[in-house]
Amino acid sequence: VVQQQVSTAADQLVDVIEALHRRGWCDGTGGNFSLVLEREPLRLLMAPSGVDKGRVQADHLIQVNRDGAVISGSGKASAETLLHLRIVEDCQAGAVLHTHSLTATLLSNHHQKLGGIHLEGWEMLKGLAGVTTHDTSVQIPIIANHQNLQLLSPNAAEHLPNAARGLLVAGHGLYAWGESLETAQRHVEILEFLLNLQWRQQLLHLSHS
Ligand SMILES: [Zn+2]
Repeated sequence: VVQQQVSTAADQLVDVIEALHRRGWCDGTGGNFSLVLEREPLRLLMAPSGVDKGRVQADHLIQVNRDGAVISGSGKASAETLLHLRIVEDCQAGAVLHTHSLTATLLSNHHQKLGGIHLEGWEMLKGLAGVTTHDTSVQIPIIANHQNLQLLSPNAAEHLPNAARGLLVAGHGLYAWGESLETAQRHVEILEFLLNLQWRQQLLHLSHS
């Protein structure tokens, strides 16, 4: 990949991280974000492990290969890198955005036993790629969190074919992706909105019963 393309991609990814941080979806060192630079051989641009997501700069970003090894930049790859790689390969994603929002953390924990969250009938569903009517239902699978984050990737594998747009990790957060960085960002915004809606709807039901 030519240097100019890398630096443009880095600026775009940093802008997206900043925007997500402003929404309160990746406070502190929470969350991680990746963008495909090249498919063959696979090159992923991403934030290194342990950086404050409100302070990420373009020259902090690292490049990793298909095995998750750092091939450019200084800093360690996050233990969640393998799940990013898995989503990139299994879902043909061009970008993967992983948030630690309050809503995703809470709802994924609350609904873990059900194995997923069912979103149905909302106009905002039309913001998801391939959805053309509100009269549809979308399932967001929930997988168990794991102390060894490297094990999230094998655990997610069986759900990815049915999780075309997002995946929740219980008590941990949301993974959303898209064919481009722009689509992935839109999917995060739409899914965060829909999860919030779900939460508030449950509260309304509680207050009426
Ligand atoms: Zn995480």
